[in-house]
Amino acid sequence: MRFSCFISLSLILFSLSSCKNLPQTENVSGGAQQPNVESYQLQGILWQQNAAEYKALCFQAFNLATLQLKEEIANKSATGKPLAIITDIDETVLDNSPYQATRAKEGKPYSRDSWVAWGNLEEATSVPGSLDFLNYASANGVTVFYISDRHDIQQETTLNNMKKLGFPNADADHIFLKKKGVDKETRRQKVYKNYEVVMYLGDNLSDFSAIFDNQPTQKRNTLADSIKKKFGNTFIVLPNPMYGAWQTDGIYEGNYNWSPTQKDSIIREKLNGY
Ligand SMILES: [Mg+2]
Repeated sequence: MRFSCFISLSLILFSLSSCKNLPQTENVSGGAQQPNVESYQLQGILWQQNAAEYKALCFQAFNLATLQLKEEIANKSATGKPLAIITDIDETVLDNSPYQATRAKEGKPYSRDSWVAWGNLEEATSVPGSLDFLNYASANGVTVFYISDRHDIQQETTLNNMKKLGFPNADADHIFLKKKGVDKETRRQKVYKNYEVVMYLGDNLSDFSAIFDNQPTQKRNTLADSIKKKFGNTFIVLPNPMYGAWQTDGIYEGNYNWSPTQKDSIIREKLNGY
């Protein structure tokens, strides 16, 4: 009897000590538990949706844009062509934070299907200040072109959403979405043929110039330094703490196949402490 008690106690102690040695990321099914990297987006989304500072930064961008555009209109066209503005859509004039919030809360990354489904709802709201600014431009004879990497199949729903909100030039002649193999620069060249573009608006540096396309973090920063006088001048930048090329091309170096564990390691490695 005593011997069997000893055996039972030994087994219990052995089991406990084995559990103690398991890595903390081990789950009940025996596989390594992946970090929920999508939840890291929550703070940025929360800020965009709640911080009055986000709104204030958007107003600041469009107030500055108005001042600059007034000057451009007063100076008139240097080429004789009519004046135009090129603007991005997402997180520049349309706020997609509800899509980001839903995906992050579910712990799911971006997917084309879910993104198109969100677009089909036509429920995006306008970025603070964007509507007033673009309508000011249009009322003063400046044509607005929308160049966006939304998928080509989203044209109708995007235009419907923008028309409902009251954006100017929300029609098929003034919107250039992403078609296979056609980058933003090629689409900008189409506008240059007939218009003098005096201003660009975007939340991503690729919205302004092809020099920023597919560049890693250090290069993006060096390039931004090299054209610093353009920001707040002909390049009007909107805040987007939720996503962007700073993350996909910069942090993740253009690789879309990292596992959550690898992403977590990369993120921690790129946080500069003291
Ligand atoms: Mg954008």
